[in-house]
Order: sequence, then C-alpha cells, then structure tokens
Amino acid sequence: MVTAVMPTYGRIDIAFENGEGSYLFDTNGEKYLDFATGIATNSLGHCHPHLVAAVQEQAAKLWHVSNLYNIPQQQRFADRLVENSFADTVFFCNSGAEAMEGCLKVARKYHFENGEPKREEIVCATGAFHGRTLTTLSAGDSEKYREGFGPRPDGFHHVAFGNLNEMRAAMSDKTAAILVEPIQGEGGINPASSAYLQSLRDIADEFNTLLIFDEVQCGMGRSGKLFAYETANVTPDIMGLAKGIGGGFPVGAVLATEKAASGMVPGTHGSTYGGNPLAMAAANAVLDVMLEKGFLSSVVKKGTKLKDDLVSLVEKHSTVLESVRGVGLMLGIKSVGPNLELMAAFRENKLLTVVAGENVVRVLPPLNVSEEEISEAVQKIDQTCSQVSS
Ligand SMILES: *Cc1c(COP(=O)(O)O)cnc(C)c1O
Repeated sequence: MVTAVMPTYGRIDIAFENGEGSYLFDTNGEKYLDFATGIATNSLGHCHPHLVAAVQEQAAKLWHVSNLYNIPQQQRFADRLVENSFADTVFFCNSGAEAMEGCLKVARKYHFENGEPKREEIVCATGAFHGRTLTTLSAGDSEKYREGFGPRPDGFHHVAFGNLNEMRAAMSDKTAAILVEPIQGEGGINPASSAYLQSLRDIADEFNTLLIFDEVQCGMGRSGKLFAYETANVTPDIMGLAKGIGGGFPVGAVLATEKAASGMVPGTHGSTYGGNPLAMAAANAVLDVMLEKGFLSSVVKKGTKLKDDLVSLVEKHSTVLESVRGVGLMLGIKSVGPNLELMAAFRENKLLTVVAGENVVRVLPPLNVSEEEISEAVQKIDQTCSQVSS
C-alpha cells in the first residue's frame, strides 16, 4: 500500500525534533552536526534568534494578503536586493523552480516585446539542475528526471558546461537566453571559471541574447560574496534565487535589470503566496544578518579553512576521498567509493551532508557556522575515513 506521503523521496530514516545553530536533534535525542542545512537552505543554521523573533512578530500581526495589495515588507526586501545586486526589479515566489520559470518567462517576454518573438530558445549547460517543474526539467540536464513525464516543453539546448566554442556555436537568431549556474550544485559542486562567465556575458551581448544565472543554490552568501556572480565580476540580465534566501522559510525571487524586465507589465506573471508578509519577514531578517559588516568575509575565511582541512584529509585518506572542490561554504568531496555509502558513514558519526552528481558529497554548513564546529566536522570526517578504510 502506498504511504500517505507520496513516496517520491528515498528518505533517510531519521526525524528531527529541534535544531539549534549548526546542530539538529532527532526524536531519539541524538545530536547531529548539520552540514547539509536542508540543502543549502538553512543559511543561518537553525532557530537563529533574529529570524525567530522576526517571524514570530510578523506571525502575530499578518501572514498573507496576496499581491492584490501593497506589501511594505516586500517592497523593503526588493529595495534591499536591488541596492545590493545588479538588478533593478524583483519578482517574488516560493521556490527555486518557480524562480527559474519566472526567469525564463522574463527572457522570452523581453524578446517578444522587443519585436523578436522567434527568440524563444534557451541554451543550458550539461550537469545543470534548475528544478522539477515540467519546464525546468527541460532546462536541466537529467534525462532520468524527465523520463515518463510526457511531452516536454521544447526550446532548450544543452552544451558542455565550461565549453565556450559549443556555447558560441549554439547561438542563433532564435536564442532568447543563456542559462547557467555560476556554481553547479546538484551536478556535483562545479564552479564555473571567472573567464567562462565573463565570456558568456560577451557572447550574450554579441548575439543579442540575455544571460540568466541560476543562483538558487550558490547565491545568498554561499560563495563568500552575496551573489556568486560577484566573484567573477560579471552581471547577468536575470537571476533566480531561492534556498538560502529565507533561511528555511520558502522564498524564491527573480531579479532582473530594467531592460530585461521591460515586458513584465501588470498581468504578465503572478504567484498567490509570493512575497507575503510572513515570508518577507524571514527574508529581511536573513538579509539583516548577511549584510552585517564582516559576515561575508567570515564565510570566505571559514570556507578557506574548511577546504584546506579537507584537502589535507584527501592526502591522508586517498583510498576514501578523491578530491575537494567548491568555493566559500559550498564545498564538495568526491568519493572514491559510492558517495551514498560515504554519506551514510558520516551520518553514523553524526555528521549530515548532501549527495550530489559525479559521486560527490556536498558539504554545506550554515554560513554562520563557528570555527570550532568546522574543526568538529573535519574531525568527524577524519574519523569516518579511518573507519571506512580499515
Ligand atoms: C534546488 C535548486 C533549484 C530548484 O529549487 P526548488 O526550490 O527545489 O524548486 C533550482 N536551481 C538550482 C541551482 C537548485 O539548486
């Protein structure tokens, strides 16, 4: 008999009861160090006092009104994103897939309004993940995820991630946009080089098409900058955000330049929940912390320490760990044996991580993790590797 919860996930048999900072406690009282953060989503760990206070205060006042009315908390958050990014305007929604759908709509509408309605095609990258809706499955690279779900929204091409010749060759007068993740997450923690991202900007300009970055996972401080594109010194025309933006509260956002969003007039897009007062209280509170002086530089510092320590562990345990990749606090360990087994072994030692493509285990601590907690994780990984290899 089917379970009441539709069995779309192969779930790990643990249920958590409460969380505190970088730790989670399960229903048996076991304590775990959480370097999974709900897949890069609990960006400030669990129950951060500032987030809890902001959400509690808002919850007692007003949760939802719909976008039929002005929402001051949403206007404030949009102003702050605009002030701190390339964007001139922001649309709010509730998830990463919804954000990426919004990005695609903005791009196609731009060309339509610009007198080039045939520019509908999106050139994406191998290894890409953009969500699980029918259209974002077409944008992503996983054939397995698409299989069995009927007619596929077309207009998507894939070229090798990092390969500029292929990207250039894929351009035509039908291209609406180039879409990439500056750091691929699901695909296995693959950072694009700055030179690649800069060249994508040049190609997009040369061929009169738009550049979309999917920063659903790598955005909001993960890379050590507020947005990963800043590390490459390139700006997109359109960008999707979600995951870490609400610190665990469901929030998604489509950011765009004024030019790229020129087709998005009243009635062209919508989302009932998008940007409601409760979600915006969480998101504004997350941004309060991330914009504090020294916060992002501490992510860089801690990320460098963690990566250096992991590199040492790869040298020490070369029969278990193959390599380390990533930037900031978005790191991946490529496993020698099956990544799921390594993850399970980490979990036995009460360290939580996340699976990724290319046999990688993602290491995604809260961005406000302490140096002591990083040392604790490194010690757990060291210990696990010794156990696995013996
Ligand atoms: C997780 C993810 C998505 C999809 O986000 P959902 O909130 O699960 O819909 C899209 N793009 C990237 C890069 C992601 O990591």
